Amino acid sequence: MRQRIGIMGGTFDPVHFGHLRAAEETVEALELDALYFTPAATPPHKGGKAILDFDHRRRMLELAIQDHPKFALSDIERKLPGKSYTVVTLRRLLQDWANGVDLYFLVGLDAFLELNTWWHFQELFELARMCVLRRPPYDETAIEAFLRSKVSPDYAWEPGAQAFAHPGLLPVHYLCNTHLEISSTRIRELVARGRSIRYLVPPQVMRYIFQNKLYAGWNAGVETVG
Ligand code: ATP
Ligand code: MG
Repeated sequence: MRQRIGIMGGTFDPVHFGHLRAAEETVEALELDALYFTPAATPPHKGGKAILDFDHRRRMLELAIQDHPKFALSDIERKLPGKSYTVVTLRRLLQDWANGVDLYFLVGLDAFLELNTWWHFQELFELARMCVLRRPPYDETAIEAFLRSKVSPDYAWEPGAQAFAHPGLLPVHYLCNTHLEISSTRIRELVARGRSIRYLVPPQVMRYIFQNKLYAGWNAGVETVG
């Protein structure tokens, strides 16, 4: 049997239970052998906004996943030159696993609906099975509309497989993961305002943030809230 490898890209600034629980449920539902978190070195979509150092973001991920038998971290996006383009990362991972693996790329519904702005996005659907994670407040009916209009009109929902099937492209899975309305933006904002982030991130990550005085001066432009 070919290995089933999950890949979850993101900025992870910082990693939180929304990422981790969705990853856990995907590994279980799709019987993945391993899941690699691939923090983006220079995310093309966050241009303009200040992002924490790669090393801090990587360290927090390491702390969050250290006891998980199937979770791992890949530095690949830092090693690759230039901006972090997911297509390039996935091509490279497929080359590196010479024995052949099936790649599953986890993406939240918010990010999925913007995939058409990603570099060479249509190739994503040939390289990996997309696994779309539920994330409020987005509407799941948008997935099919997106696939049919932006990728191919031949996608059709297969209830048995919990996936959209296609005659020539890889299936797109839709996960029924627990809705957790947690975002890194919100966490940065809470820390900057001196509020608690307990139970939104793993305790080791919370300690790391405070020990290293991360996000204290972060400015979300929402100082008037609260
Ligand atoms: P930010 O607020 O800085 O954008 P974020 O919480 O969206 O941070 P990212 O690092 O941007 O986190 O997300 C990485 C991936 O994880 C994306 O595909 C995103 O859609 C998904 N994701 C993030 N939070 C959740 C969540 N609570 N539930 C499901 N998917 C999530
Ligand atoms: Mg995001």
